[in-house]
Amino acid sequence: MELFRRASKVIPGGIYGHASPAAGLPNAFPYYAERAKGCKYWDVDGREYLDFMCGYGTISLGYGHPAVEEAAAKQREKGSIFNHPSALMPELAETLTELIEFADWAVFGKNGSDMTTWAVQVAREFTGRKKILKIQGAYHGVDPWCTPGSGGIIEEDVAHIHPFPWNDLEAFQTLVARYRGEVAALIITPFHHPSFGDSEMPEEDFFQQIEKVCRKEEILLILDDIRAGFRLALEGSHTYFGFEPDIACYCKALGNGYNISATLGREYLRVSATKVFLTGSYWNDAVSMAASLICLREMQSAKLPSHLEKLGRKLIKGIGNEALGHGFKMRFSGPPAMPFMRFADEKNFFQLQRFCALAATEGVFLHPHHNWFLSAAHTAIDIDHAIEAASRAFALLAKEQ
Ligand code: PMP
Repeated sequence: MELFRRASKVIPGGIYGHASPAAGLPNAFPYYAERAKGCKYWDVDGREYLDFMCGYGTISLGYGHPAVEEAAAKQREKGSIFNHPSALMPELAETLTELIEFADWAVFGKNGSDMTTWAVQVAREFTGRKKILKIQGAYHGVDPWCTPGSGGIIEEDVAHIHPFPWNDLEAFQTLVARYRGEVAALIITPFHHPSFGDSEMPEEDFFQQIEKVCRKEEILLILDDIRAGFRLALEGSHTYFGFEPDIACYCKALGNGYNISATLGREYLRVSATKVFLTGSYWNDAVSMAASLICLREMQSAKLPSHLEKLGRKLIKGIGNEALGHGFKMRFSGPPAMPFMRFADEKNFFQLQRFCALAATEGVFLHPHHNWFLSAAHTAIDIDHAIEAASRAFALLAKEQ
């Protein structure tokens, strides 16, 4: 609180964005972190948390993964930013386009928003069309065309952005028909993971129908795999659901905490990709690319997706059972590797917030309105500890009823 008071004088809002206490649990969640290792972190007051947010998904292998840290340190000795990219850039592009089969090229940025906005521009450049379809409530970043915020946005920013509900093929087709010949792209996540709402998986055939319509209408299919990428399938989440995008954007799991994002695309988009100006002061950063190359290798050797799925299943089963034992019923949604939890009968999130606050006091960090993340560093024993902590939190919650 002392740090936050200081911050409030020199930083608008003190802590902003998704880390803002207002967006979490004021007075119950830690405000500032000090250090982290594996699947645990410590706040500035020295409290330890078993972590199920993994830096909002950026930590795929565990905090401070030795091989990634070693690669980053080695590169840091040589340098991070030069006047030019390093040889690591083509190597990383080769590695990614080999792994993610549909793609023929890759470019790099620092954050997810860099890539979704650029991908949308490439689609507009390629098709000569203005309109972008997206899913209602889907998050693609902070740029004016997609921000969930309202500050500083003018109506022209979203004049050509047309949302429709997840899994609603009819609404999709209606928009396609209404704007025939005007739609440059559909941008879509591999499953729907809104904040403050259940995650939704694609219905059988959803992506296949979407893909068919997109091909017929020459609408580009942009996969926003920033959150789920490498967690559901190392070869890209489209392989998990059986479809092929034209462009895909990655970020979170790609660097195990080193800041890097990537967009991959098909051959026929190469010329358009060269025409949409793409640069940033730190975007050629060799340290993140060195980290990313090793991160990709380690995610493969850890068989990350099956590890996350197995532990995710254990976690939700264990927490679900402990809840029942204390008279509560939980609802889990989304893939087990990235679960979303809420109280089955609760319309608002108040009880869930109280539960997560109590869980934090019991040493486990569970988010009250966002999907959770696991990492390769989590073990079955960590999951047992998390379930035990959740059980204590349910017991405290039951006493408060
Ligand atoms: N797309 C999705 C699906 C995301 O989850 C996020 C980040 N939460 C973004 C885009 C934006 O990424 P960034 O915050 O790195 O700009």
